[in-house]
Amino acid sequence: MPVYDFIIIGLGTAGAATCMTLARRGFRVLGIDRHRPPHALGSHHGVSRSVRRAYLEGTAYVPMAMESWELWRKLESDSGRDLLVETGNLTIGPPDSPAVTGFMASAQTYDIPHALLSASEVRKKWPQLVLPDTFVAGLEKSAGIVFPELSIEAFLAEAEKAGADLAFDEPVNRWSEDHGHVHVHTARNTYEAGRVLVAAGAWTNGLLDLPVNPLQPKRVPVHWIEVTDDPGLHLGHLPVAFWQVPDREPLASAENHTEFYILPVVGPAPKMKIAFHNKLVDCDPMTLDRTVWPDEVDGIKEMMERFLPGFQHYPMTSDVCMYTMTSDGHFYLGKTPGSENVYAVALAGHGFKFAPVLGEILADLMTDQAPGVDIEMFSPERFG
Ligand SMILES: Cc1cc2nc3c(=O)[nH]c(=O)nc-3n(C[C@H](O)[C@H](O)[C@H](O)COP(=O)(O)OP(=O)(O)OC[C@H]3O[C@@H](n4cnc5c(N)ncnc54)[C@H](O)[C@@H]3O)c2cc1C
Repeated sequence: MPVYDFIIIGLGTAGAATCMTLARRGFRVLGIDRHRPPHALGSHHGVSRSVRRAYLEGTAYVPMAMESWELWRKLESDSGRDLLVETGNLTIGPPDSPAVTGFMASAQTYDIPHALLSASEVRKKWPQLVLPDTFVAGLEKSAGIVFPELSIEAFLAEAEKAGADLAFDEPVNRWSEDHGHVHVHTARNTYEAGRVLVAAGAWTNGLLDLPVNPLQPKRVPVHWIEVTDDPGLHLGHLPVAFWQVPDREPLASAENHTEFYILPVVGPAPKMKIAFHNKLVDCDPMTLDRTVWPDEVDGIKEMMERFLPGFQHYPMTSDVCMYTMTSDGHFYLGKTPGSENVYAVALAGHGFKFAPVLGEILADLMTDQAPGVDIEMFSPERFG
């Protein structure tokens, strides 16, 4: 039976980064994936992911976001690939919305260069974005976009270069623990390791038997606006923009809002991305319907009509991705309850930007080292 120090189940975002980090630290590592990442069946496809540091989801993420930015740049130089571009990022909503107050708290606490723009200032600079007068926008200029497929290719190439074994198209069916060893069972093989990471994204529930399960896969429709003739929507002209639009009072709760975002055109295809970030439907990754439903298209068209009317006449195509949501919207990261040597990670729909730092953190945890950043709020133990 092949024996390793560590086995990583799932070589998508978190798994590929952790596989690379552990292999670079000199360990014998096996990474296994049910598909051949990067692929379009999980959570990491779709050309672009936003990267920012003035983190509206909580100040606790900022040290991780800062370190991750540096590690993206390092991965670019190690791998010789361009992975990260600066576009700027707008966080848009009423001044007292959780998104805007969260953005301001992170920017001010960590002295991140930023500006708070009025609706008319935004409309003047980016006429494509039609903000109501009651909205403001937090601008972080040094934010941008990372390319997910190229990044995963880079992680996996670096992992192999550092000596990791990678197995593709080999679903893991289950694992078992026995006196400090973990056995990982696939249809083809049984492998043994000292420790295992379950980084299976939306499929994680199939590999964990949690007494209290806070993880829920969600279907995420993504829409592409084909803006062939408008260079004003391409990279360098339009920032990433995250909108938090109130549905009802009180505005202090993020649940009382509709959240969507746009990412400018990147890459050769002239397609601008738009998608909802919340109010998503539960799904099962094994039976996911990958066609986009008419009401999902209507919902996003309604947002465009209200806030991006200039986009309405362009053709639109759509696709389906998945989030692995936790019940509190924060990451799930650490040893799985009831196990000594099996760790798990789930990223609640906002994890890509942190991939390189997550690789470091998970490698630290799995080798009994204290991570350089505080991750207590991501502990699986918080769910009991
Ligand atoms: C539309 C969309 C837009 C997003 N935008 C952003 C953004 O702008 N910024 C940001 O930071 N984040 C964003 N995210 C979130 C981010 O992409 C995810 O949090 C992240 O990709 C999740 O990574 P993961 O490793 O958990 O899952 P994945 O990357 O999906 O990896 C899981 C891997 O596990 C494999 N696997 C599953 N089951 C098994 C098994 N039994 N055996 C072996 N392998 C298995 C799968 O094949 C897959 O390769 C977005 C997500 C979506 C869907």
